[in-house]
Amino acid sequence: DPARMEKIVSLCKRRGFIFQAGELYGGLNGVWDYGPLGAELKRNLKEYWWRKTVQERDDVVGMDGSILTMEQVLVSSGHVGGFSDPMSDCLLTKARLRADQIPEQDGTAVWFSAASHPASGWSVQREFAVLVAPGAEIGSAHKTARKYYAEFLSNKQISPKEIELVEERREEVTGTTRFNPENGSLLTEPRQFNLMLQTNFGATGDQIAYLRPETAQSIFVQYKNVLDSNRIKLPFGIAQIGKSFRNEINPRNYTFRSREFEQMEIEYFCHPNDGMRLTDEWLETRLCFYDEIGIPREKLHVLDIPDGERAFYSKKTYDIEYEFPFGVQELEGVAYRTDYDLGVHEKGAGKSLIYFDEETKEKFLPHVVEPSAGCDRTILALICEAFDEETLTDEKGKQDVRTVLRFKPSMAPVKVGIFPLLKKNEEQVKIARDIQKQLQKWMTVSYDDGGAVGRRYRRQDEVGTPFCVTIDFETLGESGDELKGTVTVRHRDSMEQERIAIDALLPWLLERIR
Ligand code: ATP
Repeated sequence: DPARMEKIVSLCKRRGFIFQAGELYGGLNGVWDYGPLGAELKRNLKEYWWRKTVQERDDVVGMDGSILTMEQVLVSSGHVGGFSDPMSDCLLTKARLRADQIPEQDGTAVWFSAASHPASGWSVQREFAVLVAPGAEIGSAHKTARKYYAEFLSNKQISPKEIELVEERREEVTGTTRFNPENGSLLTEPRQFNLMLQTNFGATGDQIAYLRPETAQSIFVQYKNVLDSNRIKLPFGIAQIGKSFRNEINPRNYTFRSREFEQMEIEYFCHPNDGMRLTDEWLETRLCFYDEIGIPREKLHVLDIPDGERAFYSKKTYDIEYEFPFGVQELEGVAYRTDYDLGVHEKGAGKSLIYFDEETKEKFLPHVVEPSAGCDRTILALICEAFDEETLTDEKGKQDVRTVLRFKPSMAPVKVGIFPLLKKNEEQVKIARDIQKQLQKWMTVSYDDGGAVGRRYRRQDEVGTPFCVTIDFETLGESGDELKGTVTVRHRDSMEQERIAIDALLPWLLERIR
């Protein structure tokens, strides 16, 4: 549903969840900055993942590896040689496309010969081909051809009137056909394009280092150090959250496919006999996690990747996919990677990574189960899942649409809105500020005294704040002693209100936001 996606993207910018990196200067494609609310949301997700994965388990420890990665590490892991996607160049637009993502389409290829208006003094000539989708206006091909020509002259100022186009021929093409103005093919043959971002390193800059394409490699490389320094036994996991970088050929679908993104990865080391069983167990654990943060099981699809389609070293791979508005797409992969990773580093570094089991006296290279999740993709799924437009009808029958982000309280960027009913009432303001000071030590709050309370509620609904607290005349005791010292708490989803004593507010909230 593209309309829904557009609304979500616009809300994210308007309310400060996500901005394009470098937007002031035109923007960096496929790179995103998280604004104040986005940063809080991300922090909540990462903290919850860490709590569930590391803190509450006694078989997983954490680490925080470097982003800059030695070339040798990525040579051994196979990334330098083979971390690539097939890429084709479009000869007309110069766009680079992931060859396996070029939509197959039928249509009519229209060839044009183009020249600038002789009166302008230019005499550059060029041939163009434009694909017109079945049923579409041929007129659109003329417009596109003019655009290509203007771009070809790298002079966007050129007026369409100064261009002369001659339509040379038309030809029906089918799905897989590629065509080109000179030789009949539009896209070059696919070639392998390495996705790693490389940087020059060291004082003279003649050393090569890479920005890591996944967090996993530092875990494999430090596996033995972690084992030796922690008195742990198999099976155990090492978990990490951090940035990864891939020079994706076509970043798209908002933050879904970015060039800089964060991963939340676990490498779970085990005895070879346990790998298959643990892969299934981790799949279950991860599905429960998504349910807990507000991405329900019904919206997730589990793909059991069949033989022949998995990486050659993997004995089992599950993709966990979510129903995004732009299609069902991967959130996380849970892969049984056998002893491939420790094997290649053992060989590459020439150092043994063999595990010795004290009890059974067995020696072996541990196998690995890897649940690898994308933080940004999960954030996007959380926002898409939470986004709702609710039609409300008032007593007079007037309809109104309320935009709500229905985040779980644990994920919500702001936990509570605090409003003095009247900005000019000093007593109300003082109590509101005191409550703010007290709650701020424990959670993110938003103080708002601008405009009617109803409008303030709506502003909080739109960013998913689960509770709003209003300090009113009852709080001051103007409706009798019974309500004195209590506040109105309004619930985001039901819009119901209840009175809670100020003293009870903190424990009441803490119980609901964890
Ligand atoms: P895809 O097939 O979508 O490119 P992948 O299978 O290459 O993803 P993995 O290498 O398994 O992805 O990475 C694990 C997780 O990291 C993915 O499930 C995804 O959540 C996240 N991830 C990978 N690439 C990107 C990206 N370009 N932008 C955002 N998140 C990403």
